[in-house]
Amino acid sequence: MQTELLPVTPEAIARGGELIRGGQLVAFPTETVYGLGANALDGEAVKRIFEAKGRPGDNPLIAHISAIGQLAPLIAVEPSPAARALMAACWPGPMTLIFPKSDIVPREVTAGLDTVAVRFPAHPAARALIDAAGVPIAAPSANRSGRPSPTTARHVLEDMAGRVPLILDGGDCAVGLESTVIDMTGDTPRVLRPGGITPRRIEEICGGVAVDDAVMRPLKEGEVARSPGMKYRHYAPAGALTIVQGEEARVIEAIRRLYDAALDEGKRPLILALESHIPGYGPRMALSLGADAAGMAHAVFARLRDADDLGADVLFSEAVPADGLGLAVMNRLGRAAGFHIVEV
Ligand code: AMP
Ligand code: MG
Repeated sequence: MQTELLPVTPEAIARGGELIRGGQLVAFPTETVYGLGANALDGEAVKRIFEAKGRPGDNPLIAHISAIGQLAPLIAVEPSPAARALMAACWPGPMTLIFPKSDIVPREVTAGLDTVAVRFPAHPAARALIDAAGVPIAAPSANRSGRPSPTTARHVLEDMAGRVPLILDGGDCAVGLESTVIDMTGDTPRVLRPGGITPRRIEEICGGVAVDDAVMRPLKEGEVARSPGMKYRHYAPAGALTIVQGEEARVIEAIRRLYDAALDEGKRPLILALESHIPGYGPRMALSLGADAAGMAHAVFARLRDADDLGADVLFSEAVPADGLGLAVMNRLGRAAGFHIVEV
């Protein structure tokens, strides 16, 4: 299959809409990461997403809409007051809500679950594509399964060349991490995957929030994941990643030692560090994660891909405090590291 890479123009959006209506796949930018979309009401089209990604069949997708009015047909309940408050405050935006699904949502989208995840993205190209298709678009991140999520069209091309007919190039993604996934089927909104909309913000909006405790640890043997995506070793670079956490000066000191020891063993180590700490690593190979948690959210997936391009076989990353946006950053870094976190 030939893969076309087109900048976002009205013509390219129209072409994307046609492809989606015809049961084909289109990769497109959103404010979180690039998505790989298909007609959410067509189970056969949705199967192509799983094939192109090499995604396990039990990992459900998010249905993307371009107007609040498109939610009702997809779900089997009236949204609760809390859900309505969240939608009013955070849609369009980087927030996904889970509801009991209606019959029109095929089982391929929800991986057999009786709930469906829905998001109304803010990115104008994503909204225009959904409008052009005239149907909700089911889309996970546009990476090959297990690879870091793509935050540029080039990342998508690396993973999907020859596997999809069209990639829409809308430049860099503003947030850089996937949406906050919130389960709305219980009494209290429960964060299953942290993201750009933080638990504190959710609490401000609807008065209560729970954060699933699987967010910052690996699943236990035999444990059923509430968010099926959480059971996979996600976002992983090829090299073995260790996160080093603790007081600033001690972290830098520890990472210098770990790096030098790896070099002595003939390995190709690489450091991921906050911008202001890079000089502290002297001549060692270190990539910047940005200035703070927001910078890290934006940069982390791209740097994990860079680590692969540089052939690094061991990686040492600094941590950020796991609150606010830092919770989302540490959730992704933690998963990339198989939760191999060293305290110093
Ligand atoms: P991705 O954005 O590529 O990570 O894919 C969507 C993620 O949304 C999956 O990994 C799931 O964990 C989550 N998700 C989608 N649908 C549901 C659902 N019905 N219940 C719980 N989590 C879901
Ligand atoms: Mg993904």
